Amino acid sequence: MKQLKLTSLLDYLVRKENLWKSPEKFELLLEELITRMHRFYYDRSSVYRKLCDLEGVSQTARVDDLYKVMLIDRVFKSYPTEYPEREPGKFIAWLNKIMTKPLRVTVTPKRSLQKFLDDLSQYIWLSYSSGTTGRFTFIPRDEQTKEFCIRSFAEAAVAISGDYVRNMHFILALPRKTHLFISWIPKEVAERISGKVTVLLNEISADIVRARTKPPATFSEKVKSSIIGLLGGIMKSKLIKKLYSEVEKAVAKREEIILFGSMPVMYAFCKKLVERGERLELPGRSIVVTGGGFKLEKGVSIEQFNKLLYEALGIPAPERHVDGYGMCECNILFYSCVEGGEKHVPPWVKVLLLDEELRPLPEYGRQTGRLAFFDPLAQSYPGFIITGDKVTINWNGCSKCSREGPVIEKIERIKSEEGRGCALVLGKILGE
Ligand SMILES: [Zn+2]
Repeated sequence: MKQLKLTSLLDYLVRKENLWKSPEKFELLLEELITRMHRFYYDRSSVYRKLCDLEGVSQTARVDDLYKVMLIDRVFKSYPTEYPEREPGKFIAWLNKIMTKPLRVTVTPKRSLQKFLDDLSQYIWLSYSSGTTGRFTFIPRDEQTKEFCIRSFAEAAVAISGDYVRNMHFILALPRKTHLFISWIPKEVAERISGKVTVLLNEISADIVRARTKPPATFSEKVKSSIIGLLGGIMKSKLIKKLYSEVEKAVAKREEIILFGSMPVMYAFCKKLVERGERLELPGRSIVVTGGGFKLEKGVSIEQFNKLLYEALGIPAPERHVDGYGMCECNILFYSCVEGGEKHVPPWVKVLLLDEELRPLPEYGRQTGRLAFFDPLAQSYPGFIITGDKVTINWNGCSKCSREGPVIEKIERIKSEEGRGCALVLGKILGE
């Protein structure tokens, strides 16, 4: 039998209608895709191949064995130079160990990281996320992976509420131009869903993000960082002003909107409104969407946030407040349903939970462990990844809506994830 093309299988699978069907219907197809991707990565990604060799996993291995060769997410931040823009050759050689199709390009050193990423984007799209160390997680996406990433997020996003969101005006408290994943993907998705998108900021450069997240080592870095911190504060208050004027316009026109921003920006915006004794009640079926998890000010609970959202914008949660769970290294949005706010797992990804020794936990009832996933949408890099998040999955599904399949109930960051099992092995592989 002639094998169906990978893209046709993905085309068939990554559709919003499928989120309403039983995941069992797609189980075999998903397994087929995962084993195909395993063979593909085995042939093409040198990091993946080495891990398979070390773990004794052959090219013909079955899905049940593949948990042994999942990459720990830190692999994607293990580049060998602190400043990729100054040593592009070194950085690209590192990237080539991970990627399924090596880049044969020479990029000259740059003074700015953003300029370096811009130059590289004619060959590969590097999006990044950042922790608190100034070190980025870089994910290389080719055109096809990028396309399926956007499609996968957009299909899940439309499935949350319905097709009517396609006619809504999206107001995004985000920069128009950035490689930061949590800003890049919402903008792409909004543009894919609706023709009417307003983006409130122009650009956030990678250099600014790095300077803000990296602990300053020298006096001059300290000065620079405090100036950037000051600029950040000014930018935030500008953003809130713009947000106010756009939302006010929509309310005056009785225009239904999708308002997207990070939780802290939304919180600051609503707080300002309430302090001023104002209320901008969002019209009709308008929705507030937040991303990046509930990273609020110290001492502020999600219940308080929801209360504020209602007071300031007339938005009840979870019916009209949606919080997606996603990450830079994954082409999937775990979307929260409006019925109960539970985060559902789309049928085009296989998730699993791992114990302390990185062995799979059983898939029934309610389990808590380290989240890992097989993401067959990743074609330019191995998409079998172990995250640094500790989550609780309810395999019995959502109690609030009729969609089937597992739901993610609780998400925490694992405090220390140093030195376990395959993390050590990978350190060795990438450190050579
Ligand atoms: Zn649900």
